[in-house]
Amino acid sequence: MSRRTSPRPALCPCGLPTPYEACCGRLHGGVAAPTPEALMRSRYTAFVRLDEPYLLRTWHPATRPARLDLDPGTRWTGLEVLATGDGTAFHSAGTVTFRASYRGGAIHELSRFARVEGAWVYVDGDFLD
Ligand SMILES: [Zn+2]
Repeated sequence: MSRRTSPRPALCPCGLPTPYEACCGRLHGGVAAPTPEALMRSRYTAFVRLDEPYLLRTWHPATRPARLDLDPGTRWTGLEVLATGDGTAFHSAGTVTFRASYRGGAIHELSRFARVEGAWVYVDGDFLD
């Protein structure tokens, strides 16, 4: 018999030192993202969790694909938010520059976000070097 330590809630995949349920899990459960960065983090976590419905409903209607082909074989290993632009309560648009790493590579992207009926949504992004 081995002694087991009491389990601690897993930290959120998005990199913040907060349990998932108190972090991106709240947004996945329907709480509105307060900033583009929060939305971006929750979308990264949705990729990790293969939560296609969340990704689609947080995509701007003008650029939203009909469906996603999420690859369950992708092993996401971390998210770094490198910069943010605008996206405060006084803005209707904002940007987030990030690096999302997976086993074997990384995505370095400047993403654009906009408000639709008050809620931040992902519009599109440019890959960076
Ligand atoms: Zn999170």
